[in-house]
Amino acid sequence: MVKKSFKYKIIIPTVLVFVAMVAVLNVFLSLRFSALSESLIDEQLETNINSLKNYLDTSRVNSEIAAVSLSVNPDAIKAIKEQDKSKILQIFTDSHDLYRINYCTITDNAGKVLARTHEPGNFGDSITNQQNIKDALEGRVASYFEAGTAVKVSVRTGAPVYADGRMIGIISAGVRFDSDEKIDELKRLFHTDMSVFLGDTRVATTIIRDGQRINSSKITPHIGEVVFEKKQEYYGDADIQGEQYKAFYMPLFNARHEPFAAISLLIPETDIIAAINKTRRDGITLGLGGLAIAITLLFIIISSFSKPITRLSDDMHHIAEGDLSVKIDVKGEDEVGQLGSSVLSVANILHKMLDDINIMITEHEKGNTDYFLDTDEFHGDYKKLADNILELSALGMRDHLTGIPNRRSFDNRLDLEWKRAIREKNLISVLILDVDKFKNYNDTYGHQQGDVALQTVAQTLKQSVKRSIDFVARWGGEEFIVLLPSTDSEGAVSVGEHIRKEIENAPIPCSVEGGKRVTVSVGVNTQIPAANNSISSFITIADNALYKAKETGRNRVVSGANDNNS
Ligand code: GH3
Ligand code: MG
Ligand code: MG
Repeated sequence: MVKKSFKYKIIIPTVLVFVAMVAVLNVFLSLRFSALSESLIDEQLETNINSLKNYLDTSRVNSEIAAVSLSVNPDAIKAIKEQDKSKILQIFTDSHDLYRINYCTITDNAGKVLARTHEPGNFGDSITNQQNIKDALEGRVASYFEAGTAVKVSVRTGAPVYADGRMIGIISAGVRFDSDEKIDELKRLFHTDMSVFLGDTRVATTIIRDGQRINSSKITPHIGEVVFEKKQEYYGDADIQGEQYKAFYMPLFNARHEPFAAISLLIPETDIIAAINKTRRDGITLGLGGLAIAITLLFIIISSFSKPITRLSDDMHHIAEGDLSVKIDVKGEDEVGQLGSSVLSVANILHKMLDDINIMITEHEKGNTDYFLDTDEFHGDYKKLADNILELSALGMRDHLTGIPNRRSFDNRLDLEWKRAIREKNLISVLILDVDKFKNYNDTYGHQQGDVALQTVAQTLKQSVKRSIDFVARWGGEEFIVLLPSTDSEGAVSVGEHIRKEIENAPIPCSVEGGKRVTVSVGVNTQIPAANNSISSFITIADNALYKAKETGRNRVVSGANDNNS
């Protein structure tokens, strides 16, 4: 049987809610991630732009510090004075790391090259066309972004060198941006693709394809147009050989305020989006794994929760079917445990009550009307039920008017005692009593008073028999019957006589006419019953004796025992 267990009522909707939640979460995360990736790229580019601008400023300052510091360095002054080229170069080379510069040039006081740290470059060339040299020759220290022959893109500072009160030469120090080494350093700092352009020709780049550094101007579109024609920075998208980049192009202005070179920063969107997608995929995998674990756990938890309820429901089904002996094995302090123990006690109470009722009925059928249900054992509605059952049962066995056992009860007792007498080969006697002329009594005093008279007769009868095994019952109408086990004929007649007298003297209102008291006629029979004897003929003989008592004048006892024996 497939049960519509509440377990499924919980699990199915919960799983559906879970799945819906994951779906919604997934959509939300996708939207969130794409927005996030956009802003991440923007943020990264922004950071790199700021870093680049700082770097350029710092480079300018470094070149100024280097030029000024070296122009007053006594060793440098001495070397320049002595025109000791190798010494000069040594001092400059040693200064590179200190001032974070990467090239130097020294000229004489006419601007002719005496020494330089980089090749090529003709010694003796006049470099007075350079604005920084021109300024230095006029005694000014100034720095400029410039392009040259050997160093294509750089920032450089010229400073005059004085000795013995006169200018003996110029020191120019600078940072160059056109070398791949410099670009690599920048890339390490900024974590992005960088290129340096002279005009729209790429002179240095970090963009690598198939292990080759790409050095073609074609791959960075619009740089000439944007930077050199519009003379503006560019911030936006760039498609480079089919790949999407976020791009920033920055012009470098020379001493004449012309854009002569540019630096580009490129953030490959595909890389970042791929990384984000991977994170997202990992997230989804993790989420689905978690979902599977959650569903399994949910299943286990609900199963463990529902198992005792299912068992309890089965047990209650048995109880409902009428099997009160079912064992209810639900443990625990929780509500289910409590429910189990409550059901168990209900079953136990009903079981006990039914047992008691069954015993009572059996005993009553045996004639043992003393046996009754102990209703004090039960409480609340159970007590009411037990009391009602008791009352009903008592009604079944007792006479409604007089409260003494009824005919049914007598028949049961007679059956019991009859069998016992057969077993024990013992005497058994019976008295049948009939109120004399009771019709008259009713006519005289009314039916209600007749009832009272019958009640008094019953009480008198009850009090007149002394032995506990003697049994008095209302036979019907104004007739009563008394069973006297282990009593011989003589004894039975004398009990009958005693009863007759007691009733005659009982305080029952008398008839006004003639002042006659209420009397009874009694028929007696006594027998040692054998297995083949019938109970009904035993009673009939007593009844016939009663008839004789009536015939012979009433208010007397007649035994039919001799008729039986004959
Ligand atoms: P007898 O001496 O021959 O027995 O005369 P009787 O009048 O007693 O006999 P009969 O059988 O003619 O009448 C019995 C009367 O008993 C008739 C009936 O009204 C009365 N009786 C029977 N049962 C009850 C009862 O429960 N209450 C009252 N008040 N009277 C009853
Ligand atoms: Mg009668
Ligand atoms: Mg009568």
